[in-house]
Amino acid sequence: MNTYYFDNGATTALKQEVIDEMIPYFNEVYGNPSSIYALSRNAKKAIENAREQIANLICADKQEIYFTSGGTEADNMAIRGTMEINKVKNHIITTKIEHPAILNTCKFLEQKGVEVTYLNVDEKGFINLKELKNSIKENTGIISIMFANNEIGTIEPVVEIGKIAKEKNIIFHTDGVQAVGNIEIDVNKMGIDMLSISSHKIYGPKGIGALYIKKGINIQKIIFGGAQEKNLRAGTENVPGIIGFGKAAELINNNLNKHIIKLKELRDYYINEIKKRIPRIKINGSIEKRLPGNANISFEGIDSTSLILELDNYGICASGGSACSSKEKKPSHVLSAIGVSEKFINGALRTTFGDFNNKREVDYLLNNLEKIISKLRNINNEGIL
Ligand code: PLP
Repeated sequence: MNTYYFDNGATTALKQEVIDEMIPYFNEVYGNPSSIYALSRNAKKAIENAREQIANLICADKQEIYFTSGGTEADNMAIRGTMEINKVKNHIITTKIEHPAILNTCKFLEQKGVEVTYLNVDEKGFINLKELKNSIKENTGIISIMFANNEIGTIEPVVEIGKIAKEKNIIFHTDGVQAVGNIEIDVNKMGIDMLSISSHKIYGPKGIGALYIKKGINIQKIIFGGAQEKNLRAGTENVPGIIGFGKAAELINNNLNKHIIKLKELRDYYINEIKKRIPRIKINGSIEKRLPGNANISFEGIDSTSLILELDNYGICASGGSACSSKEKKPSHVLSAIGVSEKFINGALRTTFGDFNNKREVDYLLNNLEKIISKLRNINNEGIL
């Protein structure tokens, strides 16, 4: 059976060019980048090239890119690193709809005496800028608000948040894991001080990411060891991962506008067809300010786990909430925060389109989805005899 993959928000397949670029760094240029002979110097040089490729994608300077093991570590590094460096500024402002990489870091810090404000969001998932301003205190050390939400795709007003943070001289971190490679980003123009990035959401390998840290922003390291990454993130570099991440960033940067247009077309086609074909639905999140490849639709009377398993029988991959919460039975914290009603909250389907998808595949998804929804609704209404 073919695979029809509509879960690009969870992870993406690697592009062949990315794999080709990585391979020599497993078995040819395998030197430890910290050693001084040519084999290692070549690995080091390739890392620096990748750093530049990633910096270019967000209009940063390559000196401002620090490699991590992924988006989760970048989020931890930003928040914990800021709280550690200045213990007086021990108040964090974040939102109720962040990824667990932020929420669970904040929960941990709360146990250590840090104060956290979790901003509300409206029915589309947007924060309220007035509420943000009113939450700022003398001791606020960091504002961490995600660029775009992983479940509902809502894009937060990053530029306005950056302005508020700057006015009050507070560090602004944004989790850009879902946004980078799907939205044009210029960290300087947008007033971003720190930005988390993950490679496996942009057709690069898993287990590698980066934290952008604006020149002049100081944080405490959270991993101790060697002097790698300008002494801020210890550990022998994941060289093939970094090379793949760099290539993935370069490929997406060369084609960003086309990529965005393609994803939007597939997403809008999917949403419009669903509206025409399937009754009793609710589109979660904003229509206008939304990640180009994200659709999150709730189907009344449907349990999303059953729906995903039925779709799986047809080779279709999609998710209910985010990948990280898909094993949990409780309703998504994001859908709860935007106030999705009881009849819709357990029936959400997130489909996230990517570079490898085409309209024919979306038709296959639509045809099967229509059939499955009708079947599940019949079973629920009539009961199984
Ligand atoms: N932040 C967001 C918004 C995400 O969607 C994810 C992954 O799904 C992460 C952080 C974690 O990134 P990683 O899987 O690279 O650790």
